[in-house]
Amino acid sequence: MAGHHAKYDDMVESSGLTMENHRRCSARAGKGKRLWKKVKYQLVEYHCLPGYLRDNEYILGHYRSEWPLKQALLSVFSIHNETLNVWTHLIGFFLFLALTIYTAMKVPKHSVKEDLANIIAPLMMRPITRWPFFAFLGGAMFCLLASSVCHLLSCHSERMAYIMLRLDYAGIAALISTSFYPPVYYSFMCNPLLCNLYLLSITLLGISTILFSLLPVFQNPEFRTIRASLFFGMGLSGVAPILHKLYLFWGEPEVFRTTGYEILMGALYGIGALVYATRIPERWKPGKFDIAGHSHQLFHILVVAGAYTHYRAGLVYLRWRDLRGC
Ligand SMILES: [Zn+2]
Repeated sequence: MAGHHAKYDDMVESSGLTMENHRRCSARAGKGKRLWKKVKYQLVEYHCLPGYLRDNEYILGHYRSEWPLKQALLSVFSIHNETLNVWTHLIGFFLFLALTIYTAMKVPKHSVKEDLANIIAPLMMRPITRWPFFAFLGGAMFCLLASSVCHLLSCHSERMAYIMLRLDYAGIAALISTSFYPPVYYSFMCNPLLCNLYLLSITLLGISTILFSLLPVFQNPEFRTIRASLFFGMGLSGVAPILHKLYLFWGEPEVFRTTGYEILMGALYGIGALVYATRIPERWKPGKFDIAGHSHQLFHILVVAGAYTHYRAGLVYLRWRDLRGC
């Protein structure tokens, strides 16, 4: 250990840094080129980060700081405090890609049981349009991939972090907006005016959230709660069409089933937003959850679980409308 460090200890002394500082901020210190390469892409601690990378003071170490794009991209395969943030949503993206392919291939086709129903009651089996369902799947894939890339590349530079964060917020707003499409479309498709009014409102709300997130103040750490509340409020506005749906179709089993899924999804997203805003558990034991178990990773898993719940609800809507028509 001591021998290994001897060379760059000299370098550190010559550059006027204390040993302690060097160990902690090695990625930002020193001049010797060959030695420099060895220590360049080491992970650093929170207090060594430039201001724009300081987001969560309860995550103490294992930060990548101002890495070139190539190294940042390759870091998808190494361990640092964003590894699981990247992978939770990358796996989520591939899950939704698989669900999209599965839905496109299987769901519109009739099963034997459905064909039987078709013979018995041909008028009842008219598959209705799938676009609202695919809009949701597209929104989910965009959100998950954007988030994953954001976590991977934000450490590159201030400019990159700025662009990536906007992409991340746009992804969240897109996921929430497109999540409204299947329930709203399939609940109110027989009343085009009402249906379009709901779809237009949520689309405009989504677009204004994205525009608001473009304001520079939006990314300040003090805005964490406001960010969470804004997205939370957007999701909460979904209560209106759900109550409306229950009022119109009270007593139909599919309506209760979809509402059950929607309550579960709301709970998952709600807990996610709460964990994100409170930064539990790392606030209780700073530094203990740097690599695994910190709030952002829990938030990511809850988002994927919430979106999957919504996918299941979407399948119930499709089947319900295929059978029921208008
Ligand atoms: Zn994230």
